[in-house]
Amino acid sequence: MSDIIRLTAAGLAEKLQTREISAVEATQAHLDRIDAVDHDVHAFLHVSNHALDAARRIDDRRTAGEELGPLAGVPLAVKDVLVTTDMPSTSGSRILEGYMSPFDATVVKRAREAGLIPIGKTNMDEFAMGSSTEHSAYGPTRNPWDLGRIPGGSGGGSAAAVAAFEAPLALGSDTGGSIRQPAHVTGTVGVKPTYGAVSRYGAIALASSLDQVGPVTRTVLDAGLLQDVIGGHDPFDSTSLTDAWPSMAEAARDGARGDVLKGLRVGVVKELSGEGFQAGVQSRFDETVALLTKQGAEVVEVRAPHFEYAVSAYYLILPAEASSNLAKFDSVRFGMRVQPDGGGTVEQVMAATRELGFGPEVKRRIILGTYALSAGYYDAYYGSAQKVRTLIQRDFDAAFAQVDVLISPSAPTTAFKFGEKLKDPMAMYLNDVATIPANLAGVPGISVPIGLAPEDGLPVGIQIMAPVREDARLYRVGAAIEALLEQQWGHTLISQAPALGGK
Ligand code: GLN
Repeated sequence: MSDIIRLTAAGLAEKLQTREISAVEATQAHLDRIDAVDHDVHAFLHVSNHALDAARRIDDRRTAGEELGPLAGVPLAVKDVLVTTDMPSTSGSRILEGYMSPFDATVVKRAREAGLIPIGKTNMDEFAMGSSTEHSAYGPTRNPWDLGRIPGGSGGGSAAAVAAFEAPLALGSDTGGSIRQPAHVTGTVGVKPTYGAVSRYGAIALASSLDQVGPVTRTVLDAGLLQDVIGGHDPFDSTSLTDAWPSMAEAARDGARGDVLKGLRVGVVKELSGEGFQAGVQSRFDETVALLTKQGAEVVEVRAPHFEYAVSAYYLILPAEASSNLAKFDSVRFGMRVQPDGGGTVEQVMAATRELGFGPEVKRRIILGTYALSAGYYDAYYGSAQKVRTLIQRDFDAAFAQVDVLISPSAPTTAFKFGEKLKDPMAMYLNDVATIPANLAGVPGISVPIGLAPEDGLPVGIQIMAPVREDARLYRVGAAIEALLEQQWGHTLISQAPALGGK
């Protein structure tokens, strides 16, 4: 395996700045790695034909003495939910097969402007519905730690690409956990920023009141560097916050060297433990809690009584919003068109297109959503779910009046086997119990690797949540935990992942 691909984004960026490595070399090394392992991993739906050209332009500009951004020349994998002008954007769906967008998502545009090199589009559950990538219309992604297991979802492609060293950085989207849960099961770092902190313009919408774009990386610092590039106000996204944000990379650096844990008030969420949580996930989490206490953190148990209803509320609100967002795939405006027997009325063409173009999970949620929104049931289902959402937000407010951050395992289990939850949608949905509350309240959350579960040797992550707008706190605390554990182990967790693809 080339040494270039083992570097963190921060490490690679440094070598690019000193011209020890060129952007072309960095890009080529990752393209070679994709060539060597992606037939096994299947993290990518599309690999860019333009990456080397873009890298060459960065090298030329650097040679000409131009001042470039800190990540210029670093390759970036992009979840296929984000539209791009130079690569197809399918959101994992057959209905958008081959679709070319006339514009770049704001986060992609910002990444390009910062000199990052988009190298491909990553696999995902269709329209970001799922926790395993098994709902992708293009076949699942495999977990680099164990190719017989899922890489999480919906952003399993982005997480697997980063875990398999096919890209140092990736972009994801998190509506109910699709950045954090894949990070948890692949031993990587995933951040769902505060709702509105990162533009959603050009992110194919799943549920607009929950969706958030964010970084997928191997270290907390790398995530901070990427959020600094993609974050901040975007006039094209009406929910985008106008705040001036501090540097997340600085916060991560600060956390890694300082003693931020001393006196930090940490709340362990009582409702996110116990029943349904795998023993090895719980034990790694408990050890991390003990470590925090040893470092002088004031750890207390916090109650969030309405979290119990979060998954139920989410599976009314999400399908309701999704059914409305997906109405635009009508055979006229975007993507595929199926004409039954070569003709048909508008309704028949639309029905035939949606019948063939959408997979079973998407259909299930459209049906659930339209049912929940129908006149006779609106108050009973959608209206009640919105009330529960408010109660969950109040739980967060009450908790954050007592503590600085909340913590839990990022997901109840380690990576499960293919097929294990596919036939039982409820079992699949429950894998997001820990991550969904943050989306319902708009608060930021990060997943940081904390070790391997003893029973199966698979990665486990801790989730840290902070109040709205306090993303920098996540980076500070996340980097502190990461640094402590690395000190204790003498290596990073991801360095223990199987090499794949021979040498
Ligand atoms: N797994 C969750 C779902 O299926 C989360 C999806 C997401 O965050 N995009 O809805």
